[in-house]
Amino acid sequence: AVNRRVHPQATLVQAGNTFIGEGRFTVISGPCSVESREQILEVAKSVKASGAAVLRGGVFKPRTSPYSFQGLQEEGLAMLLEAKQETGLPVVTEIMNQTQLSLMDYIDMIQIGARNMQNFDLLREVGKSDKPVLLKRGLANTIEELLMSAEYILSEGNQQVILCERGIRTFETMTRNTLDLSAVPLLKEKTHLPVIVDPSHAAGIRRLVAPLSKAAIAVGADGLMVETSSNPSEALSDGKQSLDLKQFEALMIDIRKRAEFE
Ligand code: PEP
Ligand code: MN
Repeated sequence: AVNRRVHPQATLVQAGNTFIGEGRFTVISGPCSVESREQILEVAKSVKASGAAVLRGGVFKPRTSPYSFQGLQEEGLAMLLEAKQETGLPVVTEIMNQTQLSLMDYIDMIQIGARNMQNFDLLREVGKSDKPVLLKRGLANTIEELLMSAEYILSEGNQQVILCERGIRTFETMTRNTLDLSAVPLLKEKTHLPVIVDPSHAAGIRRLVAPLSKAAIAVGADGLMVETSSNPSEALSDGKQSLDLKQFEALMIDIRKRAEFE
């Protein structure tokens, strides 16, 4: 069960050789979408050198419009795995449906995106697998609903789940979403599962990523997921919220002073 009263001991999630959870601070970084071999290799090497412990890269993309870039699909998966091999970084990528699970044998952690947080069949299916799961909060879902979605995964046997606060919809329009910082200490109180923050999708604006990252540390997050790009202005998805590789390096130097790193 996700409930801390039933299971008081903090869960450590293992993705490849990286542990995520209480007592350490883990940064996941990489592009919104894998765009080419060269792109993912360049970003992977750079974020690793800056201190990221896990590489992210979307290949099956849940885009609002069916005419927007949908991701490189299986080809992108192969590129992401090449970047894993080249750098030794464990990798996380989003799954959109059950049939994609069989393609993810060499992926270290599976992401369930905000739009699929209550896809209960998908939750059950990843719950039957032995892959760690990064579960993102839905755009309009409560903290309780997030916990119940995690419960679906745990109820099938898989205890390796990380929760991710990535901003929720409010009446505010200046940001893409509103980062619900309260969710972090509340979730930490209610569950033994690690809790990380994605400041990129919360803000939707590059210049807010650093201050929100520091805020996430201040409220006790176990880590961050930050989108980075080798060329944000030309990115095929989420360029406006992506840090370039130098900005990510600067962020990592800054937050190293504030958090106990893995
Ligand atoms: C992503 O991580 O690129 C993504 C699509 O995030 P979310 O599901 O939080 O919108
Ligand atoms: Mn994105």
